[in-house]
Amino acid sequence: MTGKTCNVAVIGAGIVGVSTALWLAREGHTVTLIDKAGPGEATSYGNAGLLACSGTMPVPGPGLLGKAPRMALDPREPLYIRWRHLPALVPWLMKYLRHATADAAKTRADAILPLIGDSLADHQALAAGTEAEKYVVSCDYLYGYATLKAFDADRFTWDIRTEQGFEFSVMDRTALRAYDPIYGEAIGCAARIRRHGRISDPGAYVKALAKAAERLGVKLIREEVEAIDRSGGRVTGVRLASETLSVDTAVVAAGAWSKFLAETLGIAVPLHPESGFHIELWEPSQMPRSPLMFAPGKFVITPMDGRIRLAGMVGYGGFDAPPPEAPYRMFMRHLKVALPGLTWRETTRWMGHRPAVSDSLPLIGAVPGVAGAYTGFGHDHVGLTAGPKTGRLLAQMISGGRPNIDVAPFAPDRFTR
Ligand SMILES: Cc1cc2nc3c(=O)[nH]c(=O)nc-3n(C[C@H](O)[C@H](O)[C@H](O)COP(=O)(O)OP(=O)(O)OC[C@H]3O[C@@H](n4cnc5c(N)ncnc54)[C@H](O)[C@@H]3O)c2cc1C
Repeated sequence: MTGKTCNVAVIGAGIVGVSTALWLAREGHTVTLIDKAGPGEATSYGNAGLLACSGTMPVPGPGLLGKAPRMALDPREPLYIRWRHLPALVPWLMKYLRHATADAAKTRADAILPLIGDSLADHQALAAGTEAEKYVVSCDYLYGYATLKAFDADRFTWDIRTEQGFEFSVMDRTALRAYDPIYGEAIGCAARIRRHGRISDPGAYVKALAKAAERLGVKLIREEVEAIDRSGGRVTGVRLASETLSVDTAVVAAGAWSKFLAETLGIAVPLHPESGFHIELWEPSQMPRSPLMFAPGKFVITPMDGRIRLAGMVGYGGFDAPPPEAPYRMFMRHLKVALPGLTWRETTRWMGHRPAVSDSLPLIGAVPGVAGAYTGFGHDHVGLTAGPKTGRLLAQMISGGRPNIDVAPFAPDRFTR
């Protein structure tokens, strides 16, 4: 405990909110964790389970502007746009694509490294002594390309990873087959990075962390937060349909749904839901040794408890549209050549929403001008990885401590000033 004791409402029980609640409880605060669906039911349920410490490069890298129109129109590309959603998408997309430059990518990579670079240790520290510990697994991470030429074309990304201290080795087809015979001819080259981690069941993991928080006295409420009340420049309460909770501190950790709550705190945020998809192959005949990013399909193949999960791709259709069929067809098409010979009992599928901010950086910290208001959302493709560190930083700030990393790039008011 570094300072004062607060009465905190954490809104959202994904990996970010649950991590925040757990660290706050460990620091001695009174904590209520509120989620309309329950812990680990939204995006934190269906991700690829990767602790992507090397995932510092944003999606909009240099060259995306030139490729984007073809990607949007070609059904073989892992990008799905619901055209009726275009008017709602365009204002955000214009801001997002402005970051598709080498300079912006490098800036983002450097800003996010301190948040994700130690993610395996961050998860181990969060889960230590709880039932969630068993889901944290250390592993290699492979990036699989169709050919060595395709790997070379990604050189910009690998140069940045090298600058950031990530060492890798490149395997050709034969070396990859010796490393893991599960992979087929579709992967002609793979880069192997050590010292990563994975979560063997992301939904169960977040639920186990929430249970650990409850054991420390955190009160869990399953309801939707309608508003955050404030008076005299301070947070005074959190409004639910059934009651208003009196609190002096509120943390918005509602993932892709955070925009409205942030706006009630006076924070403008270019946040848009970015859909992602998974299929799971239950009781497979073989298990991959490590997670592998299958670059041609932009999805990760991850070994999980009792199944293999293929998760990734990008879609823009808003919250209410039904899942498109195309991503699932794409998974099955790539699956045949990436994991040939695999058999399994049953296939299940899922769609969820990443919280995507136009500069690919989360909003973490105190909201200026509203005492007691904090944000912890916007982690797009690396929220599972960054959740525990985000929670620890927020708990430090709420306790009156100083974070030990540079949090200026995550300033919640950077789009409002
Ligand atoms: C296909 C896919 C693969 C991915 N793979 C990875 C990966 O391998 N590694 C990685 O690090 N990241 C990955 N991600 C990203 C990661 O899953 C997200 O960044 C992360 O889960 C976001 O966590 P969160 O806690 O911010 O949000 P969520 O998990 O979405 O939680 C937000 C919660 O807030 C609740 N909520 C919303 N509004 C309200 C309200 N008004 N009142 C009460 N409750 C509310 C929701 O019910 C929800 O439970 C992936 C994402 C996808 C879609």
